[in-house]
Amino acid sequence: MERTLSIIKPDGVHRGLIGEVVNMLEQNDLNIVAMKMLYMTKPQAEGFYAVHRERPFFESLTDFMSSGPVVVMVLEGENVIARYRDLMGATNYKEAADGTIRQKFATDIEKNVVHGSDAPETASFEISYFFNRFEIIR
Ligand code: GDP
Repeated sequence: MERTLSIIKPDGVHRGLIGEVVNMLEQNDLNIVAMKMLYMTKPQAEGFYAVHRERPFFESLTDFMSSGPVVVMVLEGENVIARYRDLMGATNYKEAADGTIRQKFATDIEKNVVHGSDAPETASFEISYFFNRFEIIR
């Protein structure tokens, strides 16, 4: 059993895509075990994306992620990190496979609708960034 963090980014929430994304998670057996809506401050977004501090898009990305509400979820299941990343599609929506969330909905390399952890260590950091253990169904 594995857990991963999913975020519906501000563009997804603003465009009314919460239902579409949650539906795709449910249809693909990505079990939601925690969920809430929140609005990150700029310092909270910077803390979340601290690993990208040195990247040229860090300022823009953290501005974007603190520009509106997001939906954060914990997904659980066998091999869920890789399975959810497959469903998200490539970072650049132009390279995302058919039927993926980003291929269907993303409009920009940055405004790409969803986030997903990329490894067990990052998943653990990212889940604990938003959820305490009483908020995750077991
Ligand atoms: P992910 O794991 O597929 O989300 O991709 P990364 O970890 O590489 O990047 C994190 C996020 O930064 C992406 O989801 C995008 O929102 C944003 N991002 C990645 N590459 C670029 C880029 O070249 N330009 C801009 N503006 N944003 C980017």
